[in-house]
Amino acid sequence: MSIIKDFLLQLTLMVIPIFIYFTFIKERVKSDKNRNVIMSILWGISILFCMSFPVSFGQNGRLELRIIPLLFGSLYGGFWSGIFLSALIILYRLYFGISLGFYNTVLVLLFSLPVILFFQKSFASSKKDKRVKIAVGLSFYYCLIGLTFFGILRGFSIDYLKVQIIHLIFVVVVTWFFTMLNETIREIHQLRLEMQNSEKLRVISELTSVFAHEIRNPMQVTRGFLQLLNDPDLPKNKKEYIQISIEELDRANEIINDFLSFGKPLINNNERIDVAYQLQRVVNIIQGYSLNHKVEIKTDILDNCWIYGNPQKLNQSLINILKNAIESMPNGGIVWITCTSTEDRYIKINIKDQGIGMTKKQIVRLGSPFYSLKERGTGLGMMVSFQIVRSFKGKIQVHSEKDMGTEFIILLPQIT
Ligand code: ADP
Ligand code: MG
Repeated sequence: MSIIKDFLLQLTLMVIPIFIYFTFIKERVKSDKNRNVIMSILWGISILFCMSFPVSFGQNGRLELRIIPLLFGSLYGGFWSGIFLSALIILYRLYFGISLGFYNTVLVLLFSLPVILFFQKSFASSKKDKRVKIAVGLSFYYCLIGLTFFGILRGFSIDYLKVQIIHLIFVVVVTWFFTMLNETIREIHQLRLEMQNSEKLRVISELTSVFAHEIRNPMQVTRGFLQLLNDPDLPKNKKEYIQISIEELDRANEIINDFLSFGKPLINNNERIDVAYQLQRVVNIIQGYSLNHKVEIKTDILDNCWIYGNPQKLNQSLINILKNAIESMPNGGIVWITCTSTEDRYIKINIKDQGIGMTKKQIVRLGSPFYSLKERGTGLGMMVSFQIVRSFKGKIQVHSEKDMGTEFIILLPQIT
């Protein structure tokens, strides 16, 4: 029983840093350096526990997994993490006294750390499968070196070989398992981030054709006026023509600006956001799309509404909701956008359509990934919008009735 307990403890010591990393550190700690420092400390603690509570079995049989924290710390954290963890192992071993075991520890590290650090670069640039192979290969190599030196120092015997081979198999299997676990969680995290971005690209590509049209219109108007101005017999309305041309060009410029700012890669910059101003930009961006769908957008937006967050994200989430509202009215209609502030200090954005609406069941599923009732839908728009509003510490409420229309209420914490 005690063997199993010890064994489970060793495994737990590997799991804890991995989960702490993905739950508390990966997204919250922004700088790579701080992340490495924190992870080195966590892996260091895990090494100390591994060495303090090994699995004992048979005569002289001792199993422990210190190689795994050392390996993970060095492979994911790089050179200095590797040096720090190795030094920690040597110092802690020294604390138990200078014996054959101590020399063995030092020798094994001298021969294995350079190899681990040599493979670190190619590990960092590899994909999951190759990473697993490198990690497993290195832990195999480490155990083999340990087995050889210990044998040379103490002498080989059948019993000794048995213990060491069990140790080797044990370590290699556990290394394989934890590298797989770590890499799989990593992939899932990565996928979540990519999903947000890919949904944005899709919306952009859908809006692009409408944009091209929007920009061509003012161009053509201006071109027409320039042609007229070229005519020597028509100087009468000269001023007016020039004025209209300038306005049209300004408008084209504005559309291009808004579009570019929407397409820019997300920078994680939070700032004070003027909601009225952003709503107006969003309406500008979506205007062409709504006209194409014979949808009119009516707005009633209160000035002086400030929130704190990333304006690009806010725009993205509003555009996804507005696009759905427009698409819910195949025969055209009106979308109302209002913005007010509530007594409990929220900014309340209301987006209401006269579209096909949703049943109760459909509302419940809204926001789940890939839930879409459209032929060419992705079912990611709402998920991304919900995520963004949540990241603003806001709330979304949806009221909808089949064939009557839908109302989205977005509440965002107000600042002064
Ligand atoms: P997509 O638009 O690609 O289908 P979304 O995540 O944006 O994906 O929306 C998911 C589904 O929610 C839509 O397919 C639609 O059925 C429903 N939906 C969202 N907004 C509305 C709305 N305003 N009116 C009616 N149905 C809506
Ligand atoms: Mg959508």
